[in-house]
Amino acid sequence: MSSKKDSSNSNFYKEPGPKLSAESPFESMMERFRFAAEILKLDEGMFQYLASPVKQIIVSIPVVMDNGNIEVFEGYRVIHDNVLGPSKGGLRFAPDVNLEEVKALASWMTWKCAVVNVPFGGAKGGVRCNPKELSMTELERLTRRYTAAMLEVFGPNKDIPAPDMNTNEQVMAWIMDTYSMNAQRTETAVVTGKPIILGGSQGRKEATGRGVVTVTLAALNKMGIMPNKTKVVVQGFGNVGSVSAQLMYEQGAKIIAVSDISGGYYNENGLDIPKMITYVKNNNNSLEGFKEAEKISNEQLLELECDVLIPAAKEDQINRTNAHKIRAKIIAEGANGPVTANADSILEQNGVMVIPDILANAGGVTVSYFEWVQDRQGYFWTEERVNRRLNRMMRNAFDNLYQVSEEYSITLRQAAYVYAINRVATTLKLRGIYA
Ligand code: GLU
Repeated sequence: MSSKKDSSNSNFYKEPGPKLSAESPFESMMERFRFAAEILKLDEGMFQYLASPVKQIIVSIPVVMDNGNIEVFEGYRVIHDNVLGPSKGGLRFAPDVNLEEVKALASWMTWKCAVVNVPFGGAKGGVRCNPKELSMTELERLTRRYTAAMLEVFGPNKDIPAPDMNTNEQVMAWIMDTYSMNAQRTETAVVTGKPIILGGSQGRKEATGRGVVTVTLAALNKMGIMPNKTKVVVQGFGNVGSVSAQLMYEQGAKIIAVSDISGGYYNENGLDIPKMITYVKNNNNSLEGFKEAEKISNEQLLELECDVLIPAAKEDQINRTNAHKIRAKIIAEGANGPVTANADSILEQNGVMVIPDILANAGGVTVSYFEWVQDRQGYFWTEERVNRRLNRMMRNAFDNLYQVSEEYSITLRQAAYVYAINRVATTLKLRGIYA
């Protein structure tokens, strides 16, 4: 392996292959990774090491459907890195899941864990399926068969899945049970995001939204804006969006718009978030038909004038086509990858402060870490303790990145990559390459 190559004489950061649009999650991740690698003057060997996933697994998952027919689904698990510790990352069920996306999400997990100083590497899993079309029993068989295919991969000291898009506590319980049945002992620490009664942690469900709000408050503080004087827009009303909206509402902010799959809901006087949360619970998990708001489109919602915009839905929402229309002062990325790399520079030029996903939504994996620690100790913490420790870790991470961004005069996103890559690269240098 070559090393100590002078980066100024080399164009290996631009490699490999044709220049893609940087509008896909993987290219967006690589674009930012290259930028940070140049700042850190990573040598070529280190660059290649950190750009390449440790393992990429594709499996076929046969499931006997309720009607007796067999259907075969494709499942993925990508372990991007395990230098800092066992790999960690969610499992998503969605019709458009693919290997490239899972690869990007896995590397984001590596950087995310490094940003919050959690001793985990990064991984991600997915199954290409439409969970809305599956019955509970089909979903259970799918989850168990996927887990069976990953028995050699998963493990409390190896690789630890968690919830992500369209997976929940019940899915985590099935993973835990399938793994435990095969291990012939109960192994709670093999998965996080479990129901509390099965070794889950207090506060895990709300953790991602809570973390989004902690760093948003820190950013507002830097800008000298009082939270109770802010207008907030939230895209997505799932676990992350609804908790972020609720906690900002409790801070006295005016939540002027939220959205879900049924569209956007706008009220310039502020929405009644607790009422909307109850409405969704009683309305099949949907805001459809909510009356005390004007219906707007997803595009209109993103372009509203506001202090804080929290995209908490999915990837690539703010891209080169709409970035120049964004009128928020702060974007706090509740979702993974909601802003593409192409949009970064447009937002920077327009003075929008972006709190990057690998910081903003790291509250989830932080409390997953707490859950794993509690499972291994067999001793469980109060919600108050979990929230206090979560707040402290998110706040410290924000302050660390803010300092790096000032030191190098770079954005918070660039600072996050610089900080994370430096941490992983430094650990790797100490460990060395096993031969
Ligand atoms: N899926 C979440 C994320 O993207 C949580 C991962 C975890 O807790 O391991 O951060």
